[in-house]
Amino acid sequence: MKKFPLHWQIFVALILGILYGAFLSDYVGYVGWMGDIFLRALKMIIIPLVVSSMISGVTNVGTSENLGRLSMKTFSFYILTSLIAILTGLIAVNMVRPGIGADLGLKQAVTGISAIEKPFSDILLEIIPTNIFTSLSNGEMLPIILFSILFGFFIIRSNERSKVFLTNLFDSIFDVMMKITLFIINFAPFGVFGIVAKQISHSGDILHLASTMGIYMVTVLGALLIHFFVTMPLIVKFIGRINPVKHLRAVMTPLLTAFSTSSSSATLPLTIQAVEKECGVSNKISSFTLPLGATINMNGTALYECIAVIFIAQAYGVDLTFSQQIIVVFTALLSAIGSAGIPMAGLIMMTIVLTAVGLPLEGIGLILSVDRILDMFRTATNVWGDTCAAVVIAKSEGEILKV
Ligand code: ASP
Repeated sequence: MKKFPLHWQIFVALILGILYGAFLSDYVGYVGWMGDIFLRALKMIIIPLVVSSMISGVTNVGTSENLGRLSMKTFSFYILTSLIAILTGLIAVNMVRPGIGADLGLKQAVTGISAIEKPFSDILLEIIPTNIFTSLSNGEMLPIILFSILFGFFIIRSNERSKVFLTNLFDSIFDVMMKITLFIINFAPFGVFGIVAKQISHSGDILHLASTMGIYMVTVLGALLIHFFVTMPLIVKFIGRINPVKHLRAVMTPLLTAFSTSSSSATLPLTIQAVEKECGVSNKISSFTLPLGATINMNGTALYECIAVIFIAQAYGVDLTFSQQIIVVFTALLSAIGSAGIPMAGLIMMTIVLTAVGLPLEGIGLILSVDRILDMFRTATNVWGDTCAAVVIAKSEGEILKV
């Protein structure tokens, strides 16, 4: 008998999780632990996976010239697609104007979110770790990635004996990490069921939320869907010369996991697995582009920041001028790059955009109630963007893919 494909198993688990969370919310304690175990297992492997994957990626790229070209392509792709996503959001929010007449009385108290007041130069400076072990233990992705790239780069430049030894060592560690990933992925349906059941049981009265925040949610979802189903497939088709439907099928498992966990970082092991094994992208390209993508390439988050901030401005009756909207575009890009790949990170980083155009931080209280639901959709869009980048870049490097 043919095995029921994993992404379908996850899909069924997702539906069952929604039903369980909605109708048996009092008994969520019986199943929530499955989600907790799955998430902890994914988090357990992220750091060693990112380090070994980046180092083996860079060493396999071979020369500094190749590395330079690959980095240029990767960064340009990430920034360009994020900007397109933001513009899609900008157009949608200006057309629908969901904030006009929004009831400010529905605002919730915001606790634990304070403005990120660090100047941007400090944020850049912190990419250089003063102690790599502190960064590793705190899971600070950008410093870890920078260090790994440097480490890999200088492996290429070291003497033959060290080069062979270290390249083999990190390739082998990466191999083992992927084996552990495969083992954990088997439990994804149970994990997703637990996570979703718990999440749904905590998200209050969804019908009520949909009726009060409906237009806002539809604007965000509509713009995300356009980016997901129109913009990215067009890029994949015309720039990558790849069939977007086949590609979508190949990455269904990470997409559903991203949707359920709302975390691109936690999904990274599954993303690497699918892009390498299902799409046929070389380890060299996926190892370099995907960990970086899960950290800085957030198309969905970027789009969301733009819509949310302009929604808040509309609700407060503030008419943002053209130049203020341009500021929103660029700060939304920066804050999406700076958002960690964890649930609701985008909401916290939104303080940067709000502060930049002088809107009150309490505005976040307006969108708080629906953020967690929208987070699921934007995280799936983020991961989709990463996988599209990997296949397009692989194709441009002359690789022959399975999709
Ligand atoms: N949850 C998102 C992610 O992990 C980030 C965000 O927008 O909150 O990709």
